[in-house]
Amino acid sequence: MVDRPTSPTRDQTATFIHAGAYEVTVAPALLSRAAELVAAAAPAHRYAVISDSNVAPLYAAGLVAQLARIGGTGESVPLCTIPAGEASKTRATWATVTDQLLEAKLGRDSAIVALGGGVVCDLAGFVAATFMRGLPVVHIPTTLLAMIDASLGGKTGVDTTYGKNLVGAFHQPSAVLIDPQVLDSLPVRELRSGLAEALKHGAIADAAYFDCVSREAPSLLMDEAGRRDVQALNHVIEKSVRIKTGVVTSDERENGARKALNFGHTIGHAIELLSGYTMRHGEAVGVGMLLEATAAERAGITAAGTAARIRDALTSAGLPTTRPAGPSVSQLLESMHGDKKSRSGTTEYAVPARIGVMAAVEDGYTVRLSDALVAEVLA
Ligand code: NAD
Repeated sequence: MVDRPTSPTRDQTATFIHAGAYEVTVAPALLSRAAELVAAAAPAHRYAVISDSNVAPLYAAGLVAQLARIGGTGESVPLCTIPAGEASKTRATWATVTDQLLEAKLGRDSAIVALGGGVVCDLAGFVAATFMRGLPVVHIPTTLLAMIDASLGGKTGVDTTYGKNLVGAFHQPSAVLIDPQVLDSLPVRELRSGLAEALKHGAIADAAYFDCVSREAPSLLMDEAGRRDVQALNHVIEKSVRIKTGVVTSDERENGARKALNFGHTIGHAIELLSGYTMRHGEAVGVGMLLEATAAERAGITAAGTAARIRDALTSAGLPTTRPAGPSVSQLLESMHGDKKSRSGTTEYAVPARIGVMAAVEDGYTVRLSDALVAEVLA
């Protein structure tokens, strides 16, 4: 058993958001003092950091040094660096990282720190869920998408050739530490991709927030002089974290309300997979939201004009509004059938009744749309 260190001083510049069993901390320059928060939330004899080949050279050395100091046992802090990108979110990478941790002789009294985007959070979370039947994990997300979505809620896993996220586990983090300053090094395309998930949060839960992200999007993306509206970006992070954690804490295992977060993902996952991951996750989800809303409007489930508002918001954020031409409609439908429940020519979708309000709340948060209708929209 490892002693729980006394809580670090509550910083006035930080925002703390309760997410059920764990806390999300948002603060500038948090990374420079992350280890004390890691140790308070997940006391352990040893720590290992999992990161990727873009993030590790920028941020891992300082974190590893801090963790080595708080350990105080003289034990090394292994750093496992996976190749950056979705292609790494596989069972093969899970096995490689697990072997590295075994080789480093990490025991059951250890904890994992995930430092990276959604790929690292999902993979490291799955490693933590399974290593010696489960270690604590602390997420330090470094993309906007991971800050407001992938690091929250305990869904971990890897992709297979049959579809995305088909092997995984629910494993809640012990803490999520968000340092918005790391977004300074994030390529603008990745920031846009994160804005798609922020728009989704507005579309499923808060119309005023949807309009705010849509309106403010250009000022959140850095201009040529390297300026961006930091306050507005912090607002997006905090607001989206509150929406996502509010939804997942009410339904950790996705029996109802959590399904709302899948808006755009049934079509989006198929587009992302069949693009060979050349489309970013948020880009594919954005197009998925537009196409799912279009189909649901035609089915009379979603209010007329909803898809047009989504299209305008995606355009404002510089996100794509059309799917790649490559994959055929039948390839997309087949991929969607592997991803979500399909039966007798229909598939389940989570769609809004209008911006900010979900449809079918009384009925498990999903509606059935016919494959024929969806095929028409995909075409
Ligand atoms: P990503 O992890 O691939 O990161 C995008 C790129 O940005 C990578 O090349 C990465 O190396 C680089 N990067 C990350 N942080 C950086 C920084 N601060 N500076 C410079 N470069 C940086 O992609 P993502 O968009 O963060 O995450 C997408 C993944 O998240 C998908 O696999 C998706 O399925 C998953 N996801 C999971 C959940 C969940 O609930 N578990 C929710 C949403 C998405």
